[in-house]
Amino acid sequence: MEQKEFLARLDQPRIVEAIGAAESRTSGEIRVHVQPKAGDDIRNVAEKTFERLGMTKTNLRNGVLLFIASDENQFVILGDKGIDDRVPAGFWDRIAAALTIRFKAGEFTEGIIDAISAAGEQLRTYFPHETDDVDELSNDINVSD
Ligand code: CA
Ligand code: CA
Repeated sequence: MEQKEFLARLDQPRIVEAIGAAESRTSGEIRVHVQPKAGDDIRNVAEKTFERLGMTKTNLRNGVLLFIASDENQFVILGDKGIDDRVPAGFWDRIAAALTIRFKAGEFTEGIIDAISAAGEQLRTYFPHETDDVDELSNDINVSD
């Protein structure tokens, strides 16, 4: 789906709100990024975006990026080093599998919100919310052309 149409179908305020709610349960920082295309190596492109957005600079290295290539109907979920060091392999698999189904059904907003919420739930075990929490990364959806 063309990026413009994809973005028009997203209920962005609800997604931003879901990120805030998830981040009230965990110190992990969740971001959503949308761009039209990623090409063959979406993971590599997502990793570069992760760095470009300053997501490797969180205190506990616990940023999570949901990277979406809207034209290609593809996405990838990436966690920073602090998460990879602590969580079991395949930590994101169930969330990604559920989101794949939602994307196929065209349920973009609901799918993304559920993924964010599930990510927050899973992260809280390893990265509980702290009373002196700082919002280290913006909850707004990042969009690039
Ligand atoms: Ca935070
Ligand atoms: Ca945040």
